[in-house]
Amino acid sequence: MTSAPTSHRTVRPILVASWNGGPATAKAASLHASGMPLLHAIVEGIKLIEDDPEEMSVGYGGLPNEDGIVELDAAVMDGPRHKAGGVAGLRGVRNVAAVAYEVLNRTDHALLVGDGALKFAKQLGFKEEDLLTPKARDAWLQWKASLSSQDAWIEANEQHSGFGQARWAGHKDNPTPGGPPTLSSSPHPSPVGGPARAVPFTWGTVHLSGLDQHGNLYSCTSTSGLSYKIPGRVGDSPIVGAGLYTDNAVGSAGATGRGESSLQNCAAFDVVRGMEAGLSPTDACLEALRRIARNTKETRLQSRPGVPGFNLTMYAIRKDGVTGSASMHEGYQHVVQTGTETRILNNAFVFEKA
Ligand code: ASP
Repeated sequence: MTSAPTSHRTVRPILVASWNGGPATAKAASLHASGMPLLHAIVEGIKLIEDDPEEMSVGYGGLPNEDGIVELDAAVMDGPRHKAGGVAGLRGVRNVAAVAYEVLNRTDHALLVGDGALKFAKQLGFKEEDLLTPKARDAWLQWKASLSSQDAWIEANEQHSGFGQARWAGHKDNPTPGGPPTLSSSPHPSPVGGPARAVPFTWGTVHLSGLDQHGNLYSCTSTSGLSYKIPGRVGDSPIVGAGLYTDNAVGSAGATGRGESSLQNCAAFDVVRGMEAGLSPTDACLEALRRIARNTKETRLQSRPGVPGFNLTMYAIRKDGVTGSASMHEGYQHVVQTGTETRILNNAFVFEKA
């Protein structure tokens, strides 16, 4: 099953984004129409999502790590320069996509992490602040209260030492109660921790890939990453080739969802290579997800044999402006911006709802 591919070759910019990216794509398109370079406009659009305290998977108000500290990851990629900038494990600065954009433009590096990233941001005048909102703190406290001294980081049957239930048991779940997500309802609704873990638990991210008025491609991904992660855990979002990848001759792609699976399969790179090999953007997303499903070997990550228990969504735009998106599981959506028009479309998927 595939969603209708979109192609509006004459109207630009064209952007593809994660379900929560609508406000960002609309702002990016409008800023680009007034003359701002598209990647800069994308970063400005993503600030809307990073600044939103109700968006608990990105920026200010994002769910914290296991110590209750919000750690953010973001990256940008500039197609014409084939150059990326990223930050990971950055604490205390909400607009991390903008910091990543500065890494791209002001340094010869592709990724700054932790304290070094914070120092860099502060040197450029970014404000340092506490990013933990009362709502995110409550969720974290609820999560902490649900732990026992026997909890471990992965399930007992996958460990040598044999501890109790995994702290991230929610990762096995992929519920979408109430049907497909919309712009105002998360595709990772809370609580998603399963019966034993009725604590708010999200993993989510905002990704935008776009084609500008000159036919050039750009991408950006920003996230607070996996909630309640081990401090220092970095997902796929700021990693070139996993959470985003742009090849100006071919297309651009991004990922949201279980970052470890995206990282271990170079997911965004795989989608772009699929498009280069002639697949449509949607089919390239599906093919990358099928490969990830085949590579999901551990039973703790499967809901049934051969079926990953987690979700991952890929987004793609080809050099000619055709967009596509696919999820591991049915019931997810993405955003397509064509000029001033913002649309929400159903994703293609690998596995139907059981
Ligand atoms: N991919 C992100 C990460 O693993 C989280 C997400 O998109 O849900 O950090």
